[in-house]
Amino acid sequence: ATRILELNDTRAEVVGTSADQAPVARITGLGKTFGEREVLTDIDLEIERGEFVALLGRSGSGKSTLLRALAGLDGDHTGTLTVDGAVAVAFQEPRLVPWKRVLANITLGLRHPQPRRAARVALEEVGLVERADAWPLTLSGGEAQRASLARALVREPDLLLLDEPFSALDALTRITIHNLVQQLWIRHRPGVLLVTHDVDEALLLADRTLVLGDGRIAHETRIDLPRPRHRDHPGFLALRR
Ligand code: ADP
Ligand code: MG
Repeated sequence: ATRILELNDTRAEVVGTSADQAPVARITGLGKTFGEREVLTDIDLEIERGEFVALLGRSGSGKSTLLRALAGLDGDHTGTLTVDGAVAVAFQEPRLVPWKRVLANITLGLRHPQPRRAARVALEEVGLVERADAWPLTLSGGEAQRASLARALVREPDLLLLDEPFSALDALTRITIHNLVQQLWIRHRPGVLLVTHDVDEALLLADRTLVLGDGRIAHETRIDLPRPRHRDHPGFLALRR
């Protein structure tokens, strides 16, 4: 497929043509070194459309490095990366621009015929529309994280990259946001790569869990739990606000 990569602060867009059933992301032989230090060695990974993949691994094992490479935020690696569609990223810290109101943070860099309207819809989805005119510094941690998710989702990504976005949240807020992410995933069906160090979170959310160790994918588990797959699934109603 032709690959034209456009980079923006939270978005790397690839315009190309390929078969519908092609994976949304394909990594082949990815390697990355920082100076002398080899952080990633010959990583192969495919993420299917609508597949939810969790990536576990010790701190420093290279999870964020892998995610940054997939996001197109770091071109300096070996191997090939193909992403077929739009990418959005949410990080551990919400990274909202403090001098822009919440809504303006969502529309920042957004190419859409009706950006403000789309942003309000995204804020509604994350239950934050009443905070659209608030300043980011007045948001609680959970609210800021929801705003960050809205900013990622408004881009309607084919691939959603989440780098430990829930780890700074208190337990109750985390449960709320887990449910929210599950609902949004069911509704939009992006491929997801979730970096986490929380095994329970991986079991709860992901179809497939990978463990990164010694620069390689050291372990892979497929989990087949009866979790809601589609908005028509009865379990989906239970997740609704
Ligand atoms: P993880 O997200 O799994 O905790 P990272 O991908 O952030 O790990 O980092 C993997 C390794 O690469 C760590 O040893 C880290 O110190 C190193 N590293 C990450 N980014 C840089 C950088 N910009 N320069 C030098 N070393 C880096
Ligand atoms: Mg990290």
